[in-house]
Amino acid sequence: MSNFAIPTWDTPSLPVAGTDAEFPVRRIYCVGRNYAAHAREMGHDPDREPPFFFAKPSDALVPNGGDVPYPVATKNLHPEIEMVVALKSGGKDIPVEKANDYIYGYGVGLDLTRRDMQGVAKDMGRPWDLSKGFDQSAPTTRLHPVSEVGLIESGTISLTVNGEMRQKGDLADMIWNVPETIAYLSSLIELKSGDLIFTGTPDGVAAIERGDVLIGHVDGLDDLTITVV
Ligand code: MN
Repeated sequence: MSNFAIPTWDTPSLPVAGTDAEFPVRRIYCVGRNYAAHAREMGHDPDREPPFFFAKPSDALVPNGGDVPYPVATKNLHPEIEMVVALKSGGKDIPVEKANDYIYGYGVGLDLTRRDMQGVAKDMGRPWDLSKGFDQSAPTTRLHPVSEVGLIESGTISLTVNGEMRQKGDLADMIWNVPETIAYLSSLIELKSGDLIFTGTPDGVAAIERGDVLIGHVDGLDDLTITVV
């Protein structure tokens, strides 16, 4: 595997709390509309229709405390605060009751979205890829291992912009909880160690501008601080 035709790149990774080790990131999956109030604000019926997923490139991660350049090709950039689940192992058709065993730990992430581009994609039946998976679209904190913080199933998730509360919810209000999400996703693709899952955002999504300072919070994890430049 060392005879590459061009130079290779670093494996994307996240720091791990309590150690110098980095968690290597393979793929980033994201759950759509996983809080009822957010589904409603996006114009959808939040009844338990099956979850749906999209992806971001793993090199879209931005470290905590970093600057995020306002992306090109949008005039309506939305941050979505989400709990991020990191997997230490993978598989296909993982049963719900076993799914927590696959979790390495948790972080706090922003699913940055070019909402206007996504709107065009929805209207025209085009893919969401570049409205969701653009460069630096996934700021994420270091991970806290389950061995340190336990399983996280409830608690406040919130986002402030310039000190003003924008989004606030409770992890317990997810339509599809974390083990259900892992189980469902593993019925569609084979999950593997190093995969991240962005678990969806509560309501209150709105545009941000250059100069805004965002602080994302999930009880028990590091706050995520990002400046839009
Ligand atoms: Mn999202």
